[in-house]
Amino acid sequence: MSDIIQLLPDHIANQIAAGEVIQRPASAVKELLENAVDAGATEVQLIVADAGKALVQVIDNGKGMSQTDARMAFERHATSKINSIDDLFHIKTMGFRGEALASIAAVAQVEIKTKKAEDELGTYMQIEHSNVIQQEPIACANGTSIAMKNLFFNVPARRNFLKSNTTELKNIIDEFTRVALAFPHIQFKLTSNNQQVYYLEPGSLKQRIVQLMGNNYQTKLVNVKEETEYLNVYGFIGKPEAAKKTRGDQYFFVNNRFIKSNYLNHAVNMAFQDMLQKDSFASYFLFIELNPAQVDINVHPTKQEIKFEDEKLVYAFVNAAVKHSLAQFSISPTLDFELDASIQQLPSVSQPFTEQQKQNVYNSDIYKTFTQKNQAHKIEHSGNLKSWESFFDNTKNETVNNNTAIVDPIANLNTQLATHIEMHQLHQIANSFILFENNDGVQIINQQYAHQRIIFDQLVQLQLDKKIPVQQSLFPETIELNVADAVLLLDLLHELNNFGYSIEPFGNNSFVLHGTPADIKVAQSKKDIESLLEHFKNNSSDFKLSKREKLALTLCWQQSTKSNTILSKAEMLHIVTALQLSTNPTKSPFGKNILLQIDFTYLQKVFG
Ligand code: ADP
Ligand code: MG
Repeated sequence: MSDIIQLLPDHIANQIAAGEVIQRPASAVKELLENAVDAGATEVQLIVADAGKALVQVIDNGKGMSQTDARMAFERHATSKINSIDDLFHIKTMGFRGEALASIAAVAQVEIKTKKAEDELGTYMQIEHSNVIQQEPIACANGTSIAMKNLFFNVPARRNFLKSNTTELKNIIDEFTRVALAFPHIQFKLTSNNQQVYYLEPGSLKQRIVQLMGNNYQTKLVNVKEETEYLNVYGFIGKPEAAKKTRGDQYFFVNNRFIKSNYLNHAVNMAFQDMLQKDSFASYFLFIELNPAQVDINVHPTKQEIKFEDEKLVYAFVNAAVKHSLAQFSISPTLDFELDASIQQLPSVSQPFTEQQKQNVYNSDIYKTFTQKNQAHKIEHSGNLKSWESFFDNTKNETVNNNTAIVDPIANLNTQLATHIEMHQLHQIANSFILFENNDGVQIINQQYAHQRIIFDQLVQLQLDKKIPVQQSLFPETIELNVADAVLLLDLLHELNNFGYSIEPFGNNSFVLHGTPADIKVAQSKKDIESLLEHFKNNSSDFKLSKREKLALTLCWQQSTKSNTILSKAEMLHIVTALQLSTNPTKSPFGKNILLQIDFTYLQKVFG
């Protein structure tokens, strides 16, 4: 028997390893931008073509590389940023693994020009399949330009995995935004397909937020600043009235590194608690600074998740810092006990941190109030909390809302096939259920779920050549979006306009809302479009569904009559009749039970 195990050739091993670091054009954007920042650049330009699939290029005016370093930089585990394992606990740079450039060189064609200020000439190199195929001295500007071309040209399977240009460009803009927010003193430019998308002048954090998120933020930001020996929290939160229907503008940075944390998000939301309307999301741009030894950024190759040495404490700090600034700016209506005892006054916090002091914090009343009251320790730390189901659960206890769509009794559904129903057979209970007396007994129908089913069916079954009628508004509204949302809306525009909206692109990430579906009694506004985008974004990860189905889910969620809404007999009649015609009258599109049937035979049994 012959032996069968062999070592993988280098280029294959490299490609496999590269897959961890470079999954899509946006991953390269992140790595290249971070390298530019690490190199001390004050001006950084990002150029992409074909949503990064053809080209991702970053040009910086940083410290550049010597000829030898330029060659070394593309070797795996080549980094100038750490020397010993100890350094891992004092990381001040964005990169440190020495994997990014090697990974890029394994899965794309690379061209680099780099020059140190003190050198006369720079270095030009061309790399393919991880090999330098050309190298020569070149006259060029100080700094570094790295161009990544034809990503995955040698790994077609991966190339096929890339999403539409809209999605990939959105991912790129997300990464760009995160780095640009973290380094407001650096000038950033972004050009896509030869069109300038962003030109960000260096400035304060506030200016940077406004540059990126739009002028309407100018007056809506509240400063957050809490400093202790253990950690600092600073940045801005959006005033409650600026809360958006989209979750988009929520950013946490730990030591200037963007992170995702449902846990800390919860801390902020709890601070806002009653100040936000249902369904709207606080905006925040919060920077947490702490001793690098207190965080483990090494848990994930793309480094978005993070482990804190002491998670609960960070939670309590963030929560208190936000509450504090809401109170300071007299935004929060009442000052309760926890607010008053600002974190600054904790003795264990205002002094250097020892184990003993940490214990004191844990034992202090204020700490207990924070955690017990807010159940900080009970919420999930990670994982996808955003399934359709849970999203929907949040809304089921909604109270009456004037903007709620009311069913149009003369909806364009064919009601003739349904059993004839008389008004006296219908009653509403608890403003949320329809009691429908039929031949076999009674049905208790959840009005919200039933209406969702009806709208969903209608949208999904809509013939390609038909459109839902539009109600033109007298005063068209202009909607200004951030770039990422604008890209998404553009992508959905065709379907939306089939579904009864009349939305027109207006250049510069703005749109004009000319009309909304005629079936909805209350005209929808700009806010509703924002909320629609938000639902779509947070729930569009289900691969099994088509874009149309995902949009239909969002729209039926939004347009349906909610619980706690008084219905007229005519409205009930429409719901019950239309439900009878559905091919799936028992389950809502989100998988909830729509109705409960109680037969007379059952009632007879119960009562003997
Ligand atoms: P890491 O950033 O983790 O060190 P990379 O593969 O991203 O690993 O980069 C490898 C090395 O190449 C860096 O440590 C740095 O010395 C050098 N380098 C990369 N990009 C630049 C740049 N834009 N300017 C100067 N040096 C750079
Ligand atoms: Mg790097």
